[in-house]
Amino acid sequence: MSERAAPFYCPYCGDEDLWPSEDEGHGAWECRSCSRAFRLTFLGLLAPGATGSAPAASDGGTP
Ligand SMILES: [Zn+2]
Repeated sequence: MSERAAPFYCPYCGDEDLWPSEDEGHGAWECRSCSRAFRLTFLGLLAPGATGSAPAASDGGTP
């Protein structure tokens, strides 16, 4: 994976009109619907066991 995934929706207004922010640098996006700029930041990996309560993904997908 050479580049980060792009956000699909603005976290503030939910619009899809997102563009990479050239002013703020890599990982920054701007929403042209609500005129907000934000940055996606990778915080790190979850500790082992942190997802223990999450539903297993290997059960065929049936809820
Ligand atoms: Zn927005």
